[in-house]
Amino acid sequence: MDDILLMLPGPTTVHPRVLNAMSKAVVNHRSAKFGEILTETTQLMSEVFQTPNKSYLITGSGTAAMEAGIANTVAPGEKILNVVGGKFGERFMKIANANGIETKELAIEWGTAVSPKQIEEALNADEDIKAVSVIHNETSTGVTAPIEEIGKIMKNYDALYIVDTVSSLGGDKVDVEKFGVDVCLTGSQKCIAAPPGMAAITLSDDAWKAVDKVENNTYYLDMKAIRKSGDKIPPETPYTPSVSLVYAMNEALKIIKEEGLNERIARHHKAAKASVSAVKALGLELFADEAVSSATVTAVKMPEGISDSEFRGTVRGKYGVELAGGQDHLKGNIFRIGHMGNISYKELLQTFGAIGMTLKGFGIIDDAGAGVASITESYL
Ligand SMILES: *Cc1c(COP(=O)(O)O)cnc(C)c1O
Repeated sequence: MDDILLMLPGPTTVHPRVLNAMSKAVVNHRSAKFGEILTETTQLMSEVFQTPNKSYLITGSGTAAMEAGIANTVAPGEKILNVVGGKFGERFMKIANANGIETKELAIEWGTAVSPKQIEEALNADEDIKAVSVIHNETSTGVTAPIEEIGKIMKNYDALYIVDTVSSLGGDKVDVEKFGVDVCLTGSQKCIAAPPGMAAITLSDDAWKAVDKVENNTYYLDMKAIRKSGDKIPPETPYTPSVSLVYAMNEALKIIKEEGLNERIARHHKAAKASVSAVKALGLELFADEAVSSATVTAVKMPEGISDSEFRGTVRGKYGVELAGGQDHLKGNIFRIGHMGNISYKELLQTFGAIGMTLKGFGIIDDAGAGVASITESYL
């Protein structure tokens, strides 16, 4: 195994307890024993979503739940408003298009957040909008959308409120019930800190009403089938789930519960704040508008005088820390530090030490330790 510290916006470092849970014997997925584990896991999932409604697990990455969330609630030919301020906002729009749904893009400059007012105006301008999709934490730009405030607007409209919390649930505040989210979905490998390959989704009563009306074109991701199996006693999944990943999710969610959801969110905010300070201490510039900078990933402009491959290659190859690059037109122009899951000051010290040493090595900065010093101050 590589001794590489993953500071990515997923996958994140998986706790040994979670890895051990995955080595348990695989059981029949149509048995009382598995039903018990599934019941417990989906209940823990609903606690993290903060909803009284049921949650369902889907074997697949976060994108599977994105597709399930849209394709089942908006019919082909109906219209969805997609907030697009980065790669994942774009993905929701592409998924809608692939399912024959008419899309209307609310384009937001990458690095900034949508305002509730923009959504209100878009809804007022077009009565045919059946749903609005928002990425809570736009992982490609390191920006958080104000989903609580948007929720207050959405309560005045019939349109469904669909929120992707793949890179925020378990790391930033998501209160599905209070925010009035109709469809909320996430993935296993980000703040939940389980291995990749599992997704989760929860729907409000209004969203289920839409599901019952919509003739969707999905088979594997058909929420009617997923609900039918999930509501059996004991519950099941329509097709064979990744049994081992359900064990992993179960253990990872127990770890979240032991830490306390609010404590975990506070820990992520602290790491984000410390990272932003350390970025500045190194003389680097944030990519995202600081006021809306993410609790789970910090996007930084690549400094002049060093290429992405030199920078991230050295940070990884020489110092053992894996950072993420930019996507699409941001490729080469930014790098991203994922501080999600089980991370604390230790990982940040190592990360900012590696960044400082690399930048000094290339003659970009004089003080290699400025980032580390900043992290120590933040955690004193
Ligand atoms: C990672 C991510 C996804 C899903 O990606 P998968 O690779 O399918 O797990 C979706 N939305 C956001 C905001 C993400 O960060």
